[in-house]
Amino acid sequence: MRNQFLTLVLLLTAVFAWAQDESMEMKPEMTEIWDPEVPIITPGESPSDAPSDAIVLFDGVDLGREWTNADGKEPGWLVEDGCVTVVTGEGMIKTKRVFNDFQLHIEWRTPAEVKGESQGRGNSGIFLQELYEVQVLDNYNNRTYRNGQAGSLYKQHAPLVNACKPPGVWQVYDILYTAPRFKDDGTYFTPPTVTVLHNGVLVQNHVKLRGPTEYIGIPEYSVVPHGAKSLVLQDHGNPVSYRNIWIREL
Ligand code: MG
Repeated sequence: MRNQFLTLVLLLTAVFAWAQDESMEMKPEMTEIWDPEVPIITPGESPSDAPSDAIVLFDGVDLGREWTNADGKEPGWLVEDGCVTVVTGEGMIKTKRVFNDFQLHIEWRTPAEVKGESQGRGNSGIFLQELYEVQVLDNYNNRTYRNGQAGSLYKQHAPLVNACKPPGVWQVYDILYTAPRFKDDGTYFTPPTVTVLHNGVLVQNHVKLRGPTEYIGIPEYSVVPHGAKSLVLQDHGNPVSYRNIWIREL
C-alpha cells in the first residue's frame, strides 16, 4: 500500500514537472495508440447475418453438428423450412460447445395458432450457461406476470418494454452476456450480467442476476460455482421455432 502511494506521488510529480516544461507541450499524436491493430472482421450483410468471427450454431439445416439432446443423443427437435421447432416431450436441447462471455443472436417464432394464455402461450426459453433464462413467450395481447414475460430474465428482471410481434412472426434477440466470477466461498465475486435487445429494442440494460433462474424460491440460494457452460433451448410444451443462431465469444 505504502509502495503504491509512493509510486503515485512520484508519477504525479513527474507529470507536473513535464507539464511545466513548455518544450514538452502535448501533441495530438502523444495520445494516439496504434498497436496492436484492432482485429479486422467482415460484418454480415445485415446486422442479423453472422459476422466472420461468429460461430454459427444453427444454419437452418444441420442441428446435430452443434446441438444435442440433454442426454447427449441426437437432438429430437424438428428441422424444417430453415428452422428448428420444439417437439414436445423431447426435452431441452443444448450446445456441444460451452461458453463464458458472449454476444448471441437468435431468432424465434411462437405458433401462429394461438393456444393457451399467460405462461401457457408460446413458452420456451434461452438458458445462458444452462442456468439463466431469457424468457421466450407470446406476450402479444397476452398478459402474464411482468418478470416472466418475453424479454424478462425469468423471475428476476422484467423487460423495460413489451416489444413483442404477433404470434407466427419471426422475432429477434440480441444478447450480451458476461459470465459470473466467483469468490473462494463459492458466492459471486461479480454476478452474471445481461443486456437484451428484443427486435432491436433495448429491454434489459446490463442487469445483474441474483443467481440461477428458479421457478419457485429465491435465486441466490442455488448459486454453485461454475465455469463455461452450454447454451440451452427450453422445451416448455409449445412448438416454438428458432433460426439463424450465431454467437461471438468475447
Ligand atoms: Mg420459458
